[in-house]
Amino acid sequence: MCGIIGIFGHDDVAPELTFALTSMQHRGQDSAGAVTFNGNFRVKKGLGHVSTVFGDGVAHDLHGHCGLGHVRYSTIGSPNLLNAQPFAVHYPFGLAMIHNGNVNNFVELRNYLYEERHRLLETSNDVALILYTFASELESKDLKYLTVDDIFDTVEATQRRVKGAYSAVAIIANRGFLAFTDPNGIRPLVMARHYTDKGIIYAFASETTCFDYLGYEVMRDLEPGEAVFIDENRQLHTRICHQEKQAFCVFEYIYFSREDSTVHGRLVASERVRMGKKLAETFRRTGLEPDFVIDVPNSAYFFASGLAEGLGIPYRRGLAKNAFIGRSFISPTQEKRELLVKQKLNPLGDVIRGKKIAVVDDSIVRGTTAKHLVRLLKRSGAKEVYFISASPPIKYPCIYGIDMSIKEEIIASHYDPDEIARYIGADAVVYQSLDDLRSLYADLPCCYACFSGEYPTGVSDELMQQIEEERIGAKQG
Ligand code: AMP
Repeated sequence: MCGIIGIFGHDDVAPELTFALTSMQHRGQDSAGAVTFNGNFRVKKGLGHVSTVFGDGVAHDLHGHCGLGHVRYSTIGSPNLLNAQPFAVHYPFGLAMIHNGNVNNFVELRNYLYEERHRLLETSNDVALILYTFASELESKDLKYLTVDDIFDTVEATQRRVKGAYSAVAIIANRGFLAFTDPNGIRPLVMARHYTDKGIIYAFASETTCFDYLGYEVMRDLEPGEAVFIDENRQLHTRICHQEKQAFCVFEYIYFSREDSTVHGRLVASERVRMGKKLAETFRRTGLEPDFVIDVPNSAYFFASGLAEGLGIPYRRGLAKNAFIGRSFISPTQEKRELLVKQKLNPLGDVIRGKKIAVVDDSIVRGTTAKHLVRLLKRSGAKEVYFISASPPIKYPCIYGIDMSIKEEIIASHYDPDEIARYIGADAVVYQSLDDLRSLYADLPCCYACFSGEYPTGVSDELMQQIEEERIGAKQG
């Protein structure tokens, strides 16, 4: 999963890029990078947070009227500078690109690019695959008189070849600025503008929050399979290049997007409250009677408040969080994950003691967080602990850019809620039902593959095996 930002038409784009990236830090903390264009590409990238890579955020060495920025959260393997984005190439002429998502047919594409297009990629990073596929399709056009239709045809050819999820933004040197999404629109990409006395600035980002900070006006989310091209005269062109059934990632609402972002016209915080209220209907049927609801800070707050409201019982803050501990979930080993979870959360003893507690988290993947928390709450004197997952049971790996590990490690793909309750030591485990979640999105076709195993792009057993093997290989270093 990653956060991306592209800005076109600003006199000095770098400060705004780094500012926007900081507001998307939650989408990736492994590496950060930016490229600007002013006749030449200038690239700066490094491992770690935006502040580590860009220091004071001024990025003195980046200049240009357009630029791209990226924060990365590696889906497989450990963070590596080779895989940090953006990427720039000089073939068939200057192209730079960033993307958010996951390419699935990487082996097929790598072979195609090598054997048919004679391009040997120095990295197997997804964006390199998309960029080289795009570049090789562009090569067949009349580059001297490149038209907008040529660019959209090239996007369509790229979308037909590249399977998976991707929202991409690119600079086409001296021609313009391009954004496009995969045919199913799995990953978010939102477009904004800002009027200045020198003309309109256009921007594209994974989330709207950065536009609030920048003072840009949000225009809309891109449609599945859509491309938007802004030419050098700041004229905006759009085309649905290659569209299939929409399958927007519902996990963006559950976990990934920031609560103050608006995705497809819906505020993420309000979506989580809605899910919490829906969860109350399932919870009530269990006959359990908690004294109050607490959340696993911070991502579960809105679910917990919706659930408490739905149940008509209080919400309390029952856990303190150390804000300076990194993300436990993406640590490479189970021991390290357990240690980080331990350091991260601490119960508020007086609140917990002698109470029956409903504790809400956004999801249960391996069960590491849940198991540790139940132990902590019981040790602090909780009478009963009901562990509640705001998402339905995660049973299948995400192949579209959200790190959910491999099937073997995903607890709900092997055990039912009662067995999970026994494993984590809870008095009950309650999940949102998949049907209930779907009912909340009747008017927005979403991807539920991690719950149902129905992958919108279709995946053969062979491809699934290839993806799992690559992940296992990456884990083993
Ligand atoms: P686990 O401890 O393995 O059961 O994972 C569940 C915890 O990890 C929850 O607290 C989630 O907030 C968090 N989480 C779930 N999915 C992800 C993800 N893709 N990346 C990072 N954290 C996640």
